[in-house]
Amino acid sequence: MGQMSEEQLEVRYGLPREVKYCKKCVMSNQKPNTSIEHKNKDVSRTYIDFDEEEVCAACRYNEIKDNIDWEERGQKLKRLLEKYRKNDGSYDVIVPASGGKDSIFAAYILKHKYGMHPLTVTWAPHIYRMIGWENLQRMIHKGQLSNILFSPNGSVHSYLTRLGFINMLHPFQPFVFGQKNIGPRMSVAFNVPLVMYGESNIEYGDPGDSDDEVMSVERYASEMGLDEIFLGGVSVKQLTVDHNIDLNDLKAFFPVEKKYLAKTGTKVHYLGHYLKWDPQECYYFAVDKVGFKAAEERSEGTYCKYTELDDKLPPINFYTMHTKFGIGRTMYDASQEIRNNKITRDEGVALVRKFDGEYPRLYFKETLDYLGMTKEEFDATCDSFRSPHLWIKDNGQWKLRHPVE
Ligand SMILES: [Zn+2]
Repeated sequence: MGQMSEEQLEVRYGLPREVKYCKKCVMSNQKPNTSIEHKNKDVSRTYIDFDEEEVCAACRYNEIKDNIDWEERGQKLKRLLEKYRKNDGSYDVIVPASGGKDSIFAAYILKHKYGMHPLTVTWAPHIYRMIGWENLQRMIHKGQLSNILFSPNGSVHSYLTRLGFINMLHPFQPFVFGQKNIGPRMSVAFNVPLVMYGESNIEYGDPGDSDDEVMSVERYASEMGLDEIFLGGVSVKQLTVDHNIDLNDLKAFFPVEKKYLAKTGTKVHYLGHYLKWDPQECYYFAVDKVGFKAAEERSEGTYCKYTELDDKLPPINFYTMHTKFGIGRTMYDASQEIRNNKITRDEGVALVRKFDGEYPRLYFKETLDYLGMTKEEFDATCDSFRSPHLWIKDNGQWKLRHPVE
């Protein structure tokens, strides 16, 4: 039997058949755009745009960023906040915040530079890491910010995470879902119409509405029935009937109902639309203002020490992304640093080759307990999601057919 030619290899998830890397950064054309998550059953996904010069949409946006009149956008921000600012003792802006560098930056300047009265809201991570917990406390105490930590039923969250892993190799889907909806949900609960997220998804090459002033309501609201909302690849109807989960424990993961949003007048904005966003500058800012601390060790799956410090599960998320799309966290981190002129493309290539796809070890046992599975089940599930056009088994080892170069 002859070797299968590349054109005959199966391509899964509607991924582009030919693997390409951006000529400016190191991003792969296999990067999925952020989908409207509650509709995500792995159908109708779209992938990052590459133009005829093989430059990705995120790099092109980065060029546009230099030509945006940021002075004018800053004025626009002031006018927006003017409209919502309250001086009667109530909160006037909801800021979803993990206690990471970007959310600290957003909440801090809204309060101390723009005179707003933010309520920061946190969707709890799967399993807190002490360093992330301490950074959240620094934000609250040194940043003089009020905060609500919302933790969904932990046993249900872990069960949904397991389902997301098994059905979609997307263990973070339920988390992303909750995190995206917590801002609008708290806007309704506290009757505060303005919600301000930090950086926009357009920074990562998402198309469409990402650079509009207001986030499209479809991203966090819906009027769908229980058989139309999916969590971890299973409809809510099935979860309540076949899996015996109480509807009460699922609701926090749902998009918010449009009638409530309309009543509050909820509008969701990105601060990144109004202010030029630089993640490394946010880091320096957070260190300076609230004493934010980076980890002593790099996070598994990347070389970076200051991202996603709040949770023990990101290493398996990075690993599953790499398994499914050939893209790990290093590719995101390095691409962003190349765009912001912090490292060269050659350095980026070396970093991706070194750290992307790193097998999780540090919190692995705890993570497997959380997912309720053995290492063997974990590995077998991962392998069953490898798209043949991306992966080849060579001497018992999985290798990317087209690593970045
Ligand atoms: Zn690029």
